[in-house]
Amino acid sequence: MSTVLQAYRFALDPNPGQESALRSHCGSQRFAFNWGLGKIKANLSQREAEASYGMGGDELTPLVGWSAYGLRKDWNQAKHEVAPWWAENSKEAYSSGLANLASALKNWRDSRVGRRQGRRLGFPRFKGKRAGLSCRFTTGSFGLVDQDRRHVRLPRIGVVRTHESTRTLARRVEKGTARIRSATVSYRARRWFVSFSVEITRNDSTPTRPGTTLGVDLGIKSLAVLSTGEVIANPRHLEVAQRELRRLQRQASRRQGPDRRHGQKASNRWSKTQARIRKLHADVANARRDGLHKLTTRLVRTYGAIVLEDLNVSGMVTNRRLARHVAGVGMAELRRQIEYKAAWAGVRVHIADRWYPSSKTCSGCGVVKAKLRLSDRVFACSSCGTSMDRDLNAARNLANLVEASSHSWWATENEPDGNPCQTRTMRAAGTATGRPAPHGAGQRRHRKAPTHETFSHVS
Ligand SMILES: [Zn+2]
Repeated sequence: MSTVLQAYRFALDPNPGQESALRSHCGSQRFAFNWGLGKIKANLSQREAEASYGMGGDELTPLVGWSAYGLRKDWNQAKHEVAPWWAENSKEAYSSGLANLASALKNWRDSRVGRRQGRRLGFPRFKGKRAGLSCRFTTGSFGLVDQDRRHVRLPRIGVVRTHESTRTLARRVEKGTARIRSATVSYRARRWFVSFSVEITRNDSTPTRPGTTLGVDLGIKSLAVLSTGEVIANPRHLEVAQRELRRLQRQASRRQGPDRRHGQKASNRWSKTQARIRKLHADVANARRDGLHKLTTRLVRTYGAIVLEDLNVSGMVTNRRLARHVAGVGMAELRRQIEYKAAWAGVRVHIADRWYPSSKTCSGCGVVKAKLRLSDRVFACSSCGTSMDRDLNAARNLANLVEASSHSWWATENEPDGNPCQTRTMRAAGTATGRPAPHGAGQRRHRKAPTHETFSHVS
């Protein structure tokens, strides 16, 4: 049993009054963010000016606090003056904006002194009208509505109907294995969503075939080929969507888009086409994500170990076609889902080295071909005579990578008590790829909120 933070996201179907309340809350969030940022910027430049006059130490205007708590305190003193309408919205809307500002400031500061990984972050900027709408509620009455499983409750906004049933979460709440911690509303692709951040007590059953290793070859033609011979087809709507996308882009090109040089505003008709294009992209992404979720759940419930390729597979970089790009997005998402779901189910995940020649190696005898063209759909081995589908060969190689790689790897599987849920395996150093264990290889980790799809949008 483990406790993880998971997100449950539902599309909302608000009535006009609720919709304007949602907009108002998200707008207030932005207002509070910008207010706090303005205050901090003014404070910093005031101090800078004072320092340039030779003042220093105690003579300078004191720094404005950067913590969410400090900002909230300042806001509560100033709100009557700067936002006399503040009482129209829940106080959570303002707190949400200020909390986002505080974390943006902290990220900037950490990034500057090297305490934060990833690319360097700039100083927070004012949020314009086109910034994504969102607002987070951490206190107040929010959650599911008991009666029909088709409504959620939000502070101030009231009981809002959802587009789909909330039963998956409702059942968990009823059983006492879920505790809703916060609710974030957001507006994406012409639709309102609520995302509940939920503390889930998970008790996943062990996979049905714990002794089997599965190799997954991610492809372009089909979504994936499994070492069992199963081919996971690409969802067909992708092709249909691409035809539609080309049509819409032609349509947009005939309409008047914005032009900064001449101060030309976009026409309404152009904007409408753009909205359709965004909707189409969102539909494709949703369908793809849905398919991936179903696939990854099935895989981690079945196999004891899963081997994936590392991303940036060499060939992928060279091809500029959209299909590859879309496939690439799916690949990253598939890996992300397998990694966190495997962690819950106690399944080991192995990421093959980026340069491991999974396509060029013969899965029968292990001979590595010098050259294999992308157009060669069938792998034919000249030394042992094996002949099979190119992607299946690659998938089998991936599976072999772990099965053959080390007895030491398997030896760690059964720890003294032999409880499969508690199994911790570390990949032995110096196995197949000869490199240190890659990120996430075969380790059972408890990641905080790995599923939170909206986190990236919220801040
Ligand atoms: Zn061979």
